[in-house]
Amino acid sequence: MASDNNTDTNLSSKSVKPPEVVKFAFKEFIVDSKENKWKAKCTTCNESITETRGTTTGFARYVFAISS
Ligand SMILES: [Zn+2]
Repeated sequence: MASDNNTDTNLSSKSVKPPEVVKFAFKEFIVDSKENKWKAKCTTCNESITETRGTTTGFARYVFAISS
């Protein structure tokens, strides 16, 4: 995959796929490349979770908290 000709203009996030934990319990996944953060909304209560891009600690903790 040398030349990834992606025409994602607005966000410079090259179509980042949400981590499993995010897919599991969140929606409206957004990557903020400028802030180097990503965020998603809880499918249950619509709460917005933001954390540093690349980490899922916050999401995981949230899922654990609601499922326990
Ligand atoms: Zn929730």
